[in-house]
Amino acid sequence: MDFILQRSNEAVDLRSLDLDGLKEAVAPLGLPAYRAGQMFDWLQAKGVAGAGEMTDLPKALRGQLQSRYLITWCEIARRQESKDGTVKYLFRLHDGEWIESVVMRYQHGRSICVSSQCGCRMGCVFCASGANGCARGLLPGEILAQVQAAQRDLGEPIPRVVLMGMGEPLDNYENVLQFIKLASDPRGLCISQRKISLSTCGIVPGIDRLARERLGVTLSVSLHAPEDKLRSELMPVNRAWPLNELLRACKDYAQATSRRISFEYAMFRGENDSREQAEQLAALLRGMLCHVNLIPANAGGGAQGTEGRGMRGSDRETIRMFQEILAGKGIACTVRRSLGRDIDAACGQLLGKQRSPEP
Ligand code: SAH
Repeated sequence: MDFILQRSNEAVDLRSLDLDGLKEAVAPLGLPAYRAGQMFDWLQAKGVAGAGEMTDLPKALRGQLQSRYLITWCEIARRQESKDGTVKYLFRLHDGEWIESVVMRYQHGRSICVSSQCGCRMGCVFCASGANGCARGLLPGEILAQVQAAQRDLGEPIPRVVLMGMGEPLDNYENVLQFIKLASDPRGLCISQRKISLSTCGIVPGIDRLARERLGVTLSVSLHAPEDKLRSELMPVNRAWPLNELLRACKDYAQATSRRISFEYAMFRGENDSREQAEQLAALLRGMLCHVNLIPANAGGGAQGTEGRGMRGSDRETIRMFQEILAGKGIACTVRRSLGRDIDAACGQLLGKQRSPEP
């Protein structure tokens, strides 16, 4: 289990372990068999911040857990609430790294967008998360703790999770997979895999591997362009795995899992929002088990971001026109409602401000 130890001098993170792993990790303490079950319940279902809160464990044992192991947590460094009910958290991790999560409120309940890495290596030109590269991948327990810390803050369970915050989930494959297993563990948070979505920029070997895991999670693919030339300019990942390979992997995923793929298409004025591009997109996706989510793009990327390239979001009428063309060609298509605009809720925006505070 290589995910447990990120650095050789770092202790095992107990929140990242399933029950068997936890039993194994605490075996050197020579505890009665039921203790690991109690700890698992605290770390997973109850979501405590640390061993100090495990009140049915002897004090000495709590001390041992604190000194010999790592228990990751997400400490709220900053919290912003939007008029529409969106809550954005800036979390501080045990080693001083920062990540963001956003809780959105929909009619069908709350949903949390979690980060999978501290930053991102993918270098999409419009995205703020990648502006400063990637410090490290998150441990499974750190992805989980984002859900737990937000639930605790809001005082209610959050039934849906989208891996769509900072980072590329398939660039931190093992840890993300372990997170999905932990989050859906019936003895833990017990979030149905059908209520977990994973969003990728298109790492084809990762999609192929995920298809073989036979999980129930929804796959979202950030497409953002209907042909290779433009997609390679916007998303460097496309130079490694161009559209024909990406769509082949998506079709295989849909077939292996019988799950509809969701394609994200952020709309940038004058870049990817023309009538011809809508028709190209419809032709590309013809006959696929999929759904297209049109996203009014946010300006305000990083060093290499939207401002650098002068990219701005498309206007409402253009998005509507695009949607009508897709729908007319029989492609299921929705326009994502934009939440939390007043609090910079898009990925990486708050962190950008933390790193370079406004004067
Ligand atoms: N790395 C994953 C998940 C994180 S990004 C992925 O690429 O899918 C989450 C989503 O936000 C992606 O669809 C990403 O392309 C999109 N995104 C990033 N910057 C954006 C911006 N400025 N406007 C609109 N969407 C953006």
